[in-house]
Amino acid sequence: MNEPIEPLHIIIAGGGIGGLAAAWVLGQQGHRITVLEQASKFGEIGAGIQLGPNIFRMFERLGLTHAVNAVAHFPPGMQMNDVRTGERVVRVALADAARAAYGFAYGVIYRADLHEVLLQAVRTLPQVALRTQVSVEGFETLPNASGVKVSLADGHNLQADALIGADGLWSRVRETIVGDGKPRVSGHIAYRAVLPRAEVPAHLWSDDVVLWGGEKTHLVHYPLRRGELFNLVAVFHSSKYDEGWNSFGDPAELTERFAQAAPQVRELLGKINTWKMWVLCDREPVANWSQGPVTLLGDAAHPMLQYLAQGAGQAIEDAVVLGAAIARWPRDLAQAFVQYQKARYLRTGRVQLTARLYGDIYHASGVQRELRNHLFQSGQESPGFAGLQWMYKGIDPDNLFAPTEDASPS
Ligand SMILES: Cc1cc2nc3c(=O)[nH]c(=O)nc-3n(C[C@H](O)[C@H](O)[C@H](O)COP(=O)(O)OP(=O)(O)OC[C@H]3O[C@@H](n4cnc5c(N)ncnc54)[C@H](O)[C@@H]3O)c2cc1C
Repeated sequence: MNEPIEPLHIIIAGGGIGGLAAAWVLGQQGHRITVLEQASKFGEIGAGIQLGPNIFRMFERLGLTHAVNAVAHFPPGMQMNDVRTGERVVRVALADAARAAYGFAYGVIYRADLHEVLLQAVRTLPQVALRTQVSVEGFETLPNASGVKVSLADGHNLQADALIGADGLWSRVRETIVGDGKPRVSGHIAYRAVLPRAEVPAHLWSDDVVLWGGEKTHLVHYPLRRGELFNLVAVFHSSKYDEGWNSFGDPAELTERFAQAAPQVRELLGKINTWKMWVLCDREPVANWSQGPVTLLGDAAHPMLQYLAQGAGQAIEDAVVLGAAIARWPRDLAQAFVQYQKARYLRTGRVQLTARLYGDIYHASGVQRELRNHLFQSGQESPGFAGLQWMYKGIDPDNLFAPTEDASPS
């Protein structure tokens, strides 16, 4: 029989989707968790995200399927149309087809709703402390990897058994472990907006995830929150590179980039007064994002472009695998973190690199565009759904670690 394990004290830097998912997994294991969030309150900006069947597999494991389903939308299909001609390139069925192929749904959700599901879950655990307006500056590992001293921006320090850097694209924790400087600016910009259903004319509404692809531009839209809202994301190549998230977009630039688009696309874009703008960045994949009792998770570990709609999903997979690793090596966190990253880095690296490729496919022009349309229309290639089985089929967190001598008996 396993000896009972003393609860660990684990600090999580960052209370985004990844940090809260980790707090939920590790708090349920009985560990004492302190989540440090730099913002003045826990929350997420309003925009939609897509969640593949691999993520619904994780929700099942996390016991959150019911809560997620209550606020998600389940699109019946995914379409790709040509942004200039309006021509349908391809449509793949999602709802029953996703369940039949992978056992789990393909859904879309308001980011704030997903964050709220995680926050409500975590708040039921008394052993999880949630602190806002606390910014992590750096850390020092204690001798023999026996713990970690976390330094805060207000000059205080905190000590714990372990630190998880879930502090996003600009991670301070990553700076010390990986030290690879600023993220890579892709040259692509996203403008995002959410409309109430009543503001979308019926002839422009679709229950599907719809992507209008064209030269150096694309527009994606889909309903959110059981169909009460409509999410739009317009992406285009731009020389702007203001760093960071959430500044306001310039409607004139958007109008110019979509000037040649089909009338229904221009009509949709014209419905929106205020856009939020993101400069899209990623990083080169790395194989080592742990240092003794400190590791990274989510965008801090493997930031990716959004073209495969997997960043938040991969952060949730990380949290589940990290939980499985700590459960297996609770007395040797350095080992747990090495095993966790070993189980994750090839998969997340593949998503990072494939996402760049999908950006090129969506934004193709000339012969590339013709070839894309021909291959998709003739069924010789399949976009997203069937072509990404390796990604959507997901992971089995109980089956990721090769047996080692120091593994606890099960
Ligand atoms: C345009 C766009 C579309 C996207 N679409 C999708 C999609 O369809 N599907 C999908 O799965 N993903 C999508 N993503 C990606 C997804 O948003 C991210 O991968 C996800 O939010 C990463 O979560 P995270 O918790 O790792 O990081 P973040 O969400 O960045 O959270 C990090 C948290 O840490 C806090 N923090 C930062 N620094 C510190 C510090 N020093 N101390 C304390 N706290 C700190 C931040 O305030 C924040 O709350 C999209 C991204 C973009 C930009």
